[in-house]
Amino acid sequence: MSISYLANHNPGPKDLNGDYDAAIIGCGVSGANIARRLSAYTIKTAILEKAADVSFGTSKANSGIVHGGFHHNKKYLKAKLEIQGNLMFDQLRRELDFPFKRCGIIVAALHEDEMKSVEQLYVQGVENGVIGIELCSRERILELEPKLSQDTVGGLYAPGGGMVEPYRFVFALVESAMKNGVHLYTDFKVTAARREGDLWTVHAEDGRTIKARYVINAAGLYADEVSKIFGGEEFTIKARKGEYFLMDRLTKACPGRVVFPVPTAVSKGMLVIPTVEGTVLVGPTADAIDDKTDYSTTADQLEQIFDSGKTMIPSLSRNDVITSFAGIRPILEEDFYIEPSKKAPAFVQVAGIQSPGLTASPAVGEYVKDLLKGMGLNLTEKPGWDPFVEDRPKTRELSPYDLDKLIAKESAWGNIVCRCEHVSEAEIVQAVRLGHQTLDGVKYFTRAQMGRCQGGFCTYKIIKIIMRETGLSWKEVTKHGGASRLLEAQL
Ligand SMILES: Cc1cc2nc3c(=O)[nH]c(=O)nc-3n(C[C@H](O)[C@H](O)[C@H](O)COP(=O)(O)OP(=O)(O)OC[C@H]3O[C@@H](n4cnc5c(N)ncnc54)[C@H](O)[C@@H]3O)c2cc1C
Repeated sequence: MSISYLANHNPGPKDLNGDYDAAIIGCGVSGANIARRLSAYTIKTAILEKAADVSFGTSKANSGIVHGGFHHNKKYLKAKLEIQGNLMFDQLRRELDFPFKRCGIIVAALHEDEMKSVEQLYVQGVENGVIGIELCSRERILELEPKLSQDTVGGLYAPGGGMVEPYRFVFALVESAMKNGVHLYTDFKVTAARREGDLWTVHAEDGRTIKARYVINAAGLYADEVSKIFGGEEFTIKARKGEYFLMDRLTKACPGRVVFPVPTAVSKGMLVIPTVEGTVLVGPTADAIDDKTDYSTTADQLEQIFDSGKTMIPSLSRNDVITSFAGIRPILEEDFYIEPSKKAPAFVQVAGIQSPGLTASPAVGEYVKDLLKGMGLNLTEKPGWDPFVEDRPKTRELSPYDLDKLIAKESAWGNIVCRCEHVSEAEIVQAVRLGHQTLDGVKYFTRAQMGRCQGGFCTYKIIKIIMRETGLSWKEVTKHGGASRLLEAQL
């Protein structure tokens, strides 16, 4: 089948692979964009990720919105990077294989007194240079989105906003970076670091080490701990949870654009989001929590989400809910903290990357590349850098004619493993051979287990394919690595 870009991503203990010029700690959307950007130069770059796969942190559970550039004042770095990042998505989509759609964003005001805030957002958008932003009358906003409540009094429209599948975006970036020579080490939890001469020695919990001249801290919720390990600035990343409802793709309440309420002081509010793959998200909440691993959802919060969504899109129905989940924002200050450390040498902080971190991430890659250059990293363009990752066929998108052609070559294309999302055995095998060897990795790469039955029918089939392709025993197959084993022997 296809190339194996992650298959050797976990070299054995003590495999140093020589010295690296740059080591990136954390492979969410920030680390992945930095890695891909650096892959265009003749330097040696490594990514160190503590999870079993990439995009298993905050980058896996968020709203997936490419924001429109009007929510934040341009005095903030995050506002500048949001605008720049937004504009970079079309080129990235031409080069890489990930779902992205510029469906536009609406802010709906349900009371006359909310129109004042909408006008302020409009002015901010204009000052930020948002292309095509419109202040809308009731008629115009209902024309743009007929599923909105008839109580809507007006709103805002930003045509350049969009949707992206965040994990597929990270997978594509990492595949591209690795194709261009970047090394990825997963299950590599950085626990210690030592500086000798102009080199950092970075230690993982399991005893592996690598050496690098420059280190980038893109560790998300744990950037505070990583900074401490390197003797960098002391700060605290706080966690703010956001809970969601996921609605089936057959829901009648799917809007054509992302629908925002008028924002509050702490969050952009609870939204109705038509995901790029056809399902609908409602949420997120915004609640400070102490435990950075608490991804639980609660009935109370979900009630609140539903009520809030229904005020904007009245046709939302509980019958269409297929699951709930939560994501956790890494909160530092109002703005992103992206700077060379003043305390730790050759160490760059990429911390506090809360929303709009996904939107801004391509620009974060560019910004960090420039910081590293300013810090003395010699960046010479790599001859033969290849920006392209091929689009892989997806059964659910193929015409019967094209599917037949694939089945004639390989019968696994005709064996539908996930009936809800229409994913074939061939696509599961491809994911596993690319290195996504946990159930969640397969889910994020293929969408199998993401549909109406939430894996009820296909999980055991996927486990069997993982076992067949990897040689893992049933006791070793995990949901997301570590101790998350699914099947235990009965005592
Ligand atoms: C509810 C919610 C909704 C959001 N919606 C949007 C949106 O619609 N649009 C938008 O633009 N942004 C959105 N965001 C923000 C966006 O998701 C984040 O800004 C972005 O995902 C942060 O990416 P990151 O790479 O910085 O962090 P992460 O994705 O968390 O990556 C950090 C990585 O570091 C790894 N790591 C941690 N410690 C170590 C260690 N010691 N050693 C090795 N690796 C380590 C982690 O395992 C993780 O993979 C949302 C966030 C949330 C929570």
